[in-house]
Amino acid sequence: MEEATVSSLIEESSRQWNDELIDGIFSQEEATLIKKIPLSRLDAEDVLIWPHSQDGQYSCKSGYRFLKEEEAMDNGLDVVNSDPKLWKGIWTLQVPNKVKNLLWRACRNALPTKENLVRRTIINDPLCDRCHEAHETPIHALWDCKELVTVWTGSELSQLRRDANFLDFKELLSWLLQQQVQVEVFAMTIWLIWTQRNQVRLHLAAASLQQIPQIAKDKYAEFSACQPTTSDRHVILRTRWQPPPSDFMKINFDGAVFSSENRSGIGVVIRDSAGLVIASCSQSLSQAYRSDEVEAFAAAKALSFAAELGISKAVLEGDSLTVIKALSSDQRSLSSFGPLIDDAKFSSVNFDQLRYSHVKRECNFAAHSLAKFASNFPDFQVWMEDVPPQLSHVIQADLAGFSY
Ligand SMILES: [Zn+2]
Repeated sequence: MEEATVSSLIEESSRQWNDELIDGIFSQEEATLIKKIPLSRLDAEDVLIWPHSQDGQYSCKSGYRFLKEEEAMDNGLDVVNSDPKLWKGIWTLQVPNKVKNLLWRACRNALPTKENLVRRTIINDPLCDRCHEAHETPIHALWDCKELVTVWTGSELSQLRRDANFLDFKELLSWLLQQQVQVEVFAMTIWLIWTQRNQVRLHLAAASLQQIPQIAKDKYAEFSACQPTTSDRHVILRTRWQPPPSDFMKINFDGAVFSSENRSGIGVVIRDSAGLVIASCSQSLSQAYRSDEVEAFAAAKALSFAAELGISKAVLEGDSLTVIKALSSDQRSLSSFGPLIDDAKFSSVNFDQLRYSHVKRECNFAAHSLAKFASNFPDFQVWMEDVPPQLSHVIQADLAGFSY
């Protein structure tokens, strides 16, 4: 038993968890968790995933959030109330929220600077990657580092940078907020410096430091120009199902979770460009999965179902942005539903043309109804050229939606 691997818990023929074995080995709580992990129909390779982000990829942001949450749990701090004046100063700036957020984190020394990563024993070297001379703290990384001279020369702040010595980033920003200097371009510049630093660290394409002053001005001008006035906030959203182009089929899919029954349901409906139903199906799953997992199950089922029907040109449409993104991405999804995305991609090779479409839930009501309909039976049902009679009004409503 000691040498057994997880794969011995999976029944090879059905690609399902071996419930009996799992119940025999693990505590009830553990067994329930294991049986909830979605399995691929294919014999997928094992990969290590990062559980604190939606797509299973490690990002600085999710790592940071994880550390921050731990820290908050440790000392129960209330970030907003610790310095209301500074907080207000930052949040009334006319800059994008991501910029405000960065300023606030820099003030709180809550950025994953190298010094902070050393403190958390994630890395050993606290020195700034640009100058290799000083510890990388927020004030150093964003303002003091001698390599940043090209960014601040020419700015109205260059003399301040030369003459004044600020203890930390919070002192610098508080000082600027009290002065009559324009803090917005400063804020944009700070954001660009930090972004550039991260891009370089990750070996991504990045602007040069010399370009930052101009980009900061451009970005600020761009942002101010598209601040909506109250009158033009009105946006028309397409909230009706739309038929596919003439020689395409549209495959709508959706998932539903029936938590109280510890089950889930998936629904798929395939329609042509006239809005007529080619086929629909509904399947009941014997676990209450996470909603994105059920959506991924539904997407995989939708494609295998359509491929079995011989459909070759299709638009696959769902209301889960996470799943549609994962399907359209060339990268392998490392999320818990990644194996299901692999299944879907495996089926997608059967199509001559396959497009992906993400819509609001209102446009996906037929598939949604079919997913919920799965709570009525234990297995899988198919309706050719039709939907269950109980749901025909939903199809009619979709037809009425685009025909006038
Ligand atoms: Zn430096």
